[in-house]
Amino acid sequence: MTKPARSHDSILRNVRVLDGGMASELEYLGANIDGPLWSAHVLEDAPEKIVAVHRAYIEAGADCIETASYQVSRMGYAEFGLAPERADAALLRAVELARSAAAEFPQCPLIIASLGPYGAMLHNGAEYHGNYACTSAELGEFHRQRIQVLAGAQGHQAPDLLAFETLPSLAEAEAIGEALAPWTDLAAWFTFTCRDEQHVAHGELLRDCAAAVALLPQTVAIGVNCTHPALIPALIAELGAASDKPIVVYPNSGEGWDAEARCWTGASDPAAYGAMAAEWFAAGARIVGGCCRTRPAHIRQVAEVARHS
Ligand SMILES: [Zn+2]
Repeated sequence: MTKPARSHDSILRNVRVLDGGMASELEYLGANIDGPLWSAHVLEDAPEKIVAVHRAYIEAGADCIETASYQVSRMGYAEFGLAPERADAALLRAVELARSAAAEFPQCPLIIASLGPYGAMLHNGAEYHGNYACTSAELGEFHRQRIQVLAGAQGHQAPDLLAFETLPSLAEAEAIGEALAPWTDLAAWFTFTCRDEQHVAHGELLRDCAAAVALLPQTVAIGVNCTHPALIPALIAELGAASDKPIVVYPNSGEGWDAEARCWTGASDPAAYGAMAAEWFAAGARIVGGCCRTRPAHIRQVAEVARHS
């Protein structure tokens, strides 16, 4: 990664609105995202659909967008017999696609590399409990490999910021901190998936996780994602008590996931999501976006309330 023109502290200045879900939006556009490596498949076979999703979110008012690389990793690719070079290329390609969409707009949104947790590679929902059958060395190596690729990226392939997201545990956050250590020039945010108003998925206090990552020189924001929106106000209070870093929240739409039937239940109203976003800004969130099942209509509402908050 080329050294950011903006210092770590100012990189998120004027940034209030993150984009929403990528996977569900690709489905709406007719991309086939079945299978564990959906992102790889779409990155290689239908990149124009990824660009279209980015474009829709920027048009909706997002001033930072995340790349379609959540599930891209060498270890994940290796499980399917794919070469590590292919994973590395997909990571960089995802940044390039986001940059090409952003270049169509004068406001030039920030490009954030989406980096899912180790559990996202296991395809068994392990990121929602964080009980991994691996050593902390393996956990660190999983993250280090991706960091190294992005740290060496140049020009259009270099993201502005790394997003370590849907983190279920303190152990994984600490492993990332160690993996990041050689690259103090990089800027990163850390967001956790939470099971209630105080605890991350694995059970540690969000407050303790936030305090730990706040100490890292790379950290520019700390937050919560992939969590039920009803929990967000309390979790913002926990984050605020733990550090003075900018707070970023991008919860799910509020629809429920029926694990037995493997489908989403209920509905999500973008206007209601916007009303909640106004509360999150008022409670201290600097940046608001959306995770699973949120769409450009949700982000349009978030952008609207961001203008007035
Ligand atoms: Zn999610």
